[in-house]
Amino acid sequence: MTHVINDECISCGLCEPECPVNAISEGDDKYVIDAETCNDCGACVEVCPVDAVIAE
Ligand code: SF4
Ligand code: SF4
Repeated sequence: MTHVINDECISCGLCEPECPVNAISEGDDKYVIDAETCNDCGACVEVCPVDAVIAE
């Protein structure tokens, strides 16, 4: 299981500084999570205003 950012993302950037392992970065049309780096801590889920971060 890993965390991913879906198409609901509005690129607000709130989640990026919350990630303890810097797995989140700005992509072309939304923010993205590097699956190799993400440790599934869930911190990004808490701050997203549109619930775009989901556990898959
Ligand atoms: Fe970073 Fe944790 Fe979100 Fe993974 S679940 S992207 S480690 S904040
Ligand atoms: Fe996208 Fe949510 Fe992150 Fe904002 S907090 S950049 S809407 S995933």
